[in-house]
Amino acid sequence: MRLDAEFLCSALTMAECPRWGRVEIALAGRSNVGKSSLLNALVGRKNLARISKTPGRTRCLNFFTLGDRIGLVDLPGYGYAKVAHLEAAKIALLLEQYLRQRHELKALVLLVDARRGPQKEEFALAQFLHDPSARMEDSPRLIVVATKCDKLKRADRGPALRRFAAIATTPLICSCLTGEGIDRLRHQILSVAHRADAPMRED
Ligand code: GDP
Repeated sequence: MRLDAEFLCSALTMAECPRWGRVEIALAGRSNVGKSSLLNALVGRKNLARISKTPGRTRCLNFFTLGDRIGLVDLPGYGYAKVAHLEAAKIALLLEQYLRQRHELKALVLLVDARRGPQKEEFALAQFLHDPSARMEDSPRLIVVATKCDKLKRADRGPALRRFAAIATTPLICSCLTGEGIDRLRHQILSVAHRADAPMRED
């Protein structure tokens, strides 16, 4: 199954987000977690996600179409060592506004390095999504992805994944190198979009 994906626009403020009536699935994760690689693997395009890394776009919400009915939103990576304090605060505010206010948002794909496990930012994000008072709309579903699992030995998987217990009962184990888990993630995204009652074409 393949869905065509295209870059649409970047937004630095909520007012700049597109009015497009698509079900949105957002991807979040600290910088270097493998978000671009995963986005490319998901849509079968080599360089699509590079757009989000071009100058001026790294602190934006970057919107991509996926098929006819879904929007993928690449959220700014957090945890950059080099980002100045004020810049980091602006990014955090935009992220919070998006998660709080965007009614199109139906699922957040939270990427966590399989070897590192969730840290305070990921715990905070998961808690925020589960807090019913955080949003006017229904809470988006949380899909936790353990990235770069090819770097874990089989025997180390169990202990590594147990560190995810506080944010996900079963994180999706993925590797862009081997392709493990990519189809399952694609299916989860499509099923969230279906449940949000957005008829779409799948080929
Ligand atoms: P981003 O900053 O979150 O967008 O991360 P990138 O997708 O740019 O990846 C950061 C680094 O991790 C790059 O050197 C990638 O080649 C590497 N990487 C990404 N995904 C995987 C993976 O599944 N396995 C391995 N071994 N390396 C990966």
